[in-house]
Amino acid sequence: MIQVQLINDLKENVKAAKQAGKSIGFVPTMGFLHEGHMSLVKHAREENDFVIMSIFVNPAQFGPNEDLDRYPRDLERDTKMAVEAGVDLLFFPQAEEMYPQDGGITIRAGAQADVLCGASRPGHFDGVLKVVTKLFHLVEPTKVYFGQKDAQQLAIIETYVRDYNFPLEVRRVPTVREEDGLAKSSRNVFLSEKERVEAPLIQQAIQMGLEDYQKNQDAEKATLVTIQHIENGTSGNIDYVELLSYPDLTNNLSNNKSIILAVAVFFEKARLIDNLILNNKGE
Ligand code: AMP
Repeated sequence: MIQVQLINDLKENVKAAKQAGKSIGFVPTMGFLHEGHMSLVKHAREENDFVIMSIFVNPAQFGPNEDLDRYPRDLERDTKMAVEAGVDLLFFPQAEEMYPQDGGITIRAGAQADVLCGASRPGHFDGVLKVVTKLFHLVEPTKVYFGQKDAQQLAIIETYVRDYNFPLEVRRVPTVREEDGLAKSSRNVFLSEKERVEAPLIQQAIQMGLEDYQKNQDAEKATLVTIQHIENGTSGNIDYVELLSYPDLTNNLSNNKSIILAVAVFFEKARLIDNLILNNKGE
């Protein structure tokens, strides 16, 4: 596996891959890898000649009181996992090189960022779009892989790529879970033992909410079912529970649209998110 920290070294390798006629599959991450990330690599490996993974804890997507400084990092372990997963090139730039100066131009996500995590983390998705713009230009991927665990991020990036003609294809990868249903996340290490036992209830609660919605077609009631299950069974504090159309993320649930039930819960040291998406056939 090729390991590069500098942008110029990345670009040389990208150029060589392109000249050799290779398709490039790209998996952007913030590291502290787990099986969710590995699943993205597996899909990228199957569909491309050359697989690039980036590890960059992107300061632009963290708010002032968020967990940028204590976000878990372990590049040595990540490197081993990336080798095992079959990554061809690992890019781990430094913030100083990614953001050497501020020219004052910003990229703003649209209405899809006014709800869910965008509402509780102002500017978060602008920061995501900032880094993916740079990474897409540097990596020149044929296909990019994002997890449905971060469904709002995926929806916004799909819109961005479509509306601004990025010459690449966005691939959706299903959420990978622990055996008890908890969505894998780098932040799960911050859960106390007690919280870790409680956390799978989030997924259960989402399922219960969606089942209720399928029966009654009442979004308010369905979200209440989810809220009650989380409140009764966990010590976490709910940030949001919302049932919206997907991927446009509005309250208009009519006419055969896919829907998402999305949840964010604060535990003592970790804010966890999870969701389930039902397509217009109810699957
Ligand atoms: P992160 O390192 O948390 O920024 O995540 C990098 C990529 O991995 C994003 O596209 C996430 O959606 C995806 N991802 C994170 N957790 C999971 C999971 N449990 N299952 C599938 N994809 C995931």
